[in-house]
Amino acid sequence: MSLKDVFCQDKAISLLQRAYAAQRMSHAYIFAGPEGVGKFKVAGELARLLLCESPELEKTCGGDFADSCGRCNSCRLFDAGSHPDFNHVYKELRKFTRDGKGKPPPVDLPIDVVREFLIEKAPMRPTLSKRKVFVVSEAERLNASSQNCLLKVLEEPPEYCCIILLCTRLDRLLATTRSRCQTIRFSTIDDDRIIAHLKEMDLDGTKAGYFALLAQGSLGRACEWARLELAGAELYRTKKELIGSIADCRLGGVTELAEKLVGESARIASVWTDLDESTSRSDIVRRSQRTLIEMVISGFHDAMTLNITPEKGAVNFEQAGEIKKLARRFDPESAAERIADCYRMQGWIEVGVNGKLIFEQLLLNIADSGKLQV
Ligand SMILES: [Zn+2]
Repeated sequence: MSLKDVFCQDKAISLLQRAYAAQRMSHAYIFAGPEGVGKFKVAGELARLLLCESPELEKTCGGDFADSCGRCNSCRLFDAGSHPDFNHVYKELRKFTRDGKGKPPPVDLPIDVVREFLIEKAPMRPTLSKRKVFVVSEAERLNASSQNCLLKVLEEPPEYCCIILLCTRLDRLLATTRSRCQTIRFSTIDDDRIIAHLKEMDLDGTKAGYFALLAQGSLGRACEWARLELAGAELYRTKKELIGSIADCRLGGVTELAEKLVGESARIASVWTDLDESTSRSDIVRRSQRTLIEMVISGFHDAMTLNITPEKGAVNFEQAGEIKKLARRFDPESAAERIADCYRMQGWIEVGVNGKLIFEQLLLNIADSGKLQV
């Protein structure tokens, strides 16, 4: 893997290439864009290039394209995940901080992690390469005091430093943080390219189509769901049943259905944990719950589309009957209310509200609204 193998982020990469060729790389970047569009991948490949002992230049019609060599000592250490001058800063590092032992995995990116893994390390000169690279994942989870703490190093970084903040929500970063970094925007990826990619992973066409549309341009998320599906998580079967059951959702069935969803999200989470060992179990449970709620959102969204702009395609294109039923029961206004509700529940998940309570509340609101056909 190298910079030229990164999928569909030509614009962001060419901006970085131009800066590299002109020897005008910024010391601090914000890579901004939705989850799963390649921000981490580009940051990693850029780091590999900046650290490489003998970078290679290839002449292309768009100018020189620089890439790491893949053979030097630095590249080898980088690939082995043990390069001393590459620092990935992410919230799960909290357990390795001075006071973090035994503390539960955090939801935000704790200040201790930023202090001990970035601010204190930045002034120490690189040990192997000419540079030192810090990649901060989920920078939108930095609270104001962590960001303030970072300001000094962002403002006057040692000349050998390159700090890259990966961020899905620019509005969560303070203006002072943003003004000290150069922002590179990452765009979403076309559905067709995602579908082709999922099919290459051996997912069948219908499932590939559904996961690509559900992912809304995020290749990373689509691939993650595809990997889950291929590992036997039965995500697709779960969503088919879920879309069917919300169309018929009545008060009497709420408790049972909520319990079922809790069970499904736990089951999905256990397959997910096997695939992704670096993420905490509680984060994975939250992700599974969020995925189920996104499926519900897509159902209401399709119902709304069918009522307002029926010529537009549906995410749940293969469940036309159920979507029709939903569209009959929920007019656009009440579908929009249910979607707003789902987003509120996503917020509850983030702050750690009990899953059963969330699903129950969500389903109660659904059961209690719309025009029920007798
Ligand atoms: Zn190299």
